[in-house]
Amino acid sequence: MSKNKSSESVKVVVRCRPLNRKEESNGPSGGIVEMELRLGQVILRNPRASHSEPQKTFTFDAVYDGNSKQRDLYDESVRPLIDSVLAGFNGTIFAYGQTGTGKTYTMQGMWLDPEKRGVIPNAFDHIFTHISRSQSDKQYLVRASYLEIYREEIRDLMDPNHATARGLELRESPETGVYVPDLTSCVCKSIKEIEEVMNVGNQARAVAATDMNEYSSRSHALFLITVECGQPGPDGRKHIRVGRLNLVDLAGSERQAKTGVQGERLKEAAKINLSLSALGNVISALADGRSGHVPYRDSKLTRLLQDSLGGNAKTVMVATLGPAPQHYDETLTTLRYANRAKNIQNQPRVNEDPKDALLREFQSEIARLRAQLNHRKWRSKQKKERLDDDGSDADGDEDTECEEEEVEKNAEEYVKREEQRLEREKEAIRGDRSLLADEKQRLLGEKERMMGDLRKEQEATEQLTAKYKAMESKLLVGGKNIIDHTNEQQKMLEMKRQEIAEQFRNEREMQQQMMVQDDETLELRDTFTSLQQEVEAKTKKLKKLYAKLQCIKAEIQDVNDEHVRSRQELEQTQNELTRELKFKYLIIENFIPPEEKNKIMSRMTFDAEEDQWKFQPLVPAESKPQQMKKRPTSAVGYKRPISQYARVAITMGANNRFRAENIMFLELDMNPPNTASLARLRDLNQSFPVDNFPTNDSGVHKSNSWCQNQKSLTPSSSNVSLSACTTAMSASAQ
Ligand code: ADP
Ligand code: MG
Repeated sequence: MSKNKSSESVKVVVRCRPLNRKEESNGPSGGIVEMELRLGQVILRNPRASHSEPQKTFTFDAVYDGNSKQRDLYDESVRPLIDSVLAGFNGTIFAYGQTGTGKTYTMQGMWLDPEKRGVIPNAFDHIFTHISRSQSDKQYLVRASYLEIYREEIRDLMDPNHATARGLELRESPETGVYVPDLTSCVCKSIKEIEEVMNVGNQARAVAATDMNEYSSRSHALFLITVECGQPGPDGRKHIRVGRLNLVDLAGSERQAKTGVQGERLKEAAKINLSLSALGNVISALADGRSGHVPYRDSKLTRLLQDSLGGNAKTVMVATLGPAPQHYDETLTTLRYANRAKNIQNQPRVNEDPKDALLREFQSEIARLRAQLNHRKWRSKQKKERLDDDGSDADGDEDTECEEEEVEKNAEEYVKREEQRLEREKEAIRGDRSLLADEKQRLLGEKERMMGDLRKEQEATEQLTAKYKAMESKLLVGGKNIIDHTNEQQKMLEMKRQEIAEQFRNEREMQQQMMVQDDETLELRDTFTSLQQEVEAKTKKLKKLYAKLQCIKAEIQDVNDEHVRSRQELEQTQNELTRELKFKYLIIENFIPPEEKNKIMSRMTFDAEEDQWKFQPLVPAESKPQQMKKRPTSAVGYKRPISQYARVAITMGANNRFRAENIMFLELDMNPPNTASLARLRDLNQSFPVDNFPTNDSGVHKSNSWCQNQKSLTPSSSNVSLSACTTAMSASAQ
């Protein structure tokens, strides 16, 4: 991947939790992870290998051991990212690692203990403190959403019915990238409000976790914060910067055992970690840099994090490890994963004046409400002035330059006076004897209506004011809305802490650079005075290089082993899926008629967006409505085409056994048989077995009703063939 000017790599930090009580009691071996904090190195010891085997060393942007404090990680590795988000960049922090290694501890921590609060609560503090301390010409709008991905379904944790609701869909726009259109987004005015969003979401997850085994370790939780900041630019116009922050607590990275799982359960198991394996593939493709195609579209998670990996965002990955020897393989996999992610290059840029900025919508809506309100108040004031001019108690000239408060006061006064006036007029009407009762009633009604109008208007103004105030209160203005409780000393302390963190970071970067340079310049520095010295120096170097070679060889071996393992697993999954496919084919071939199958196949289309097969509608879009077959005229108003005879039968109420089934019951006349007709009937019986027709015991009938109705039978009726046949019969019978 070509590095351009604004590109920067994904920051990867590793954190190892302390041994827990159970692991401590398990054996004396202690942890297998050692950390070199100053160099940002992790040294991993293989508990199964001999002592001669070299240990594995990995270098990262920062490492935190079991003694590290939440605050250290925040100040050193997260604070700069949140500062960038406040400046209008996109930022992502994701915690990756095996279940039980401290992902949730790092992201959320323990809320009640200020020392153990994780990245998310610290970020809340940071964002709102920043807003309260910024200049008063800045306006902020902070929004938060909380979602999770479980079995490739996106669920809105703010939605009370999220457990039963259908998964949300993803959309992509060139402006904002990938987003979830129907996701609830809560405007937050304070730390308390944003914490409430977090708590509601966490409770929803906790409920699901009690209902389902291993739920929380298999779902990905994404907390999204959008900070919009409006500020007048040098050109005098207001500019809006939008920073989006994704705080991601991933599902446990441990390998899911798929062996022995079949059918639906297998597909389920494959889906559980689909997002995570897709994430691995995306990281590999990006880190590799050679493969042009990055498989973002393979899973929901990778699509949502598309910008964070190789796109417009600053990203920090926190890889969490456990020090227990029994998890050596998983720990090594996590370290490799993290090591690969270091090579991903992002291109972050400030999001300036995007079209979808909500702040702009808020601002224009507030301006509109304000104009409306002012207009109403101005109108009331005008009316009051007119009243003052007309009335005897006019109190002379008023200020032409009216303050807003005065306008409001005037409006209220106007309403009060108007009410009093109407009341007085009503009294006058009641007391007027010269008016007729009807007339009085009418006038009183009119006054009543005028009072109603007045009240309605007042109510509307009050509603408008409330709406205006509610909207305005959602915007946070720098240095005003939030009272900053921190005193100067505390501020200084914070600044010092940040400075120390910065220094520590710089120092580590320099140490790492020096190490790299040391290796490179070793050759250049060496000048030898004697052959002996040269041999010694070269032997030393050879040993060093040999050790390195061994390390790399072991690495290659490990990677190969891992590939073989994952290939075997994939093959096994494939075999099981093929077997299941064969089973389904068998059912289709044997139990579904081929024409039905073809019909279904021709209607199916694959929706790549939703990753599902879908049925095309039976009636192709409105453009071709004429393709729909017309309903036969004899069927209008009935379930199916119906003969005239049956209609008549229905109205007559006769033969209700066959009425709805459209079967004619033919009663034939009892003519005294003669020999000629009997002989003809016998011939006929041979060609039309009479048994098939409902007959009386006598066996010979003539259809009275048929003779009467046969002309009115429509050719479109469904029993044309039957009528043709009976016509032939009756003709031959006579
Ligand atoms: P995960 O989310 O990765 O499954 P958790 O965050 O739930 O893991 O951590 C598992 C346990 O380990 C918790 O009891 C947590 O308190 C503890 N723990 C994790 N990391 C640390 C740490 N750095 N210091 C102290 N305890 C930790
Ligand atoms: Mg967790």
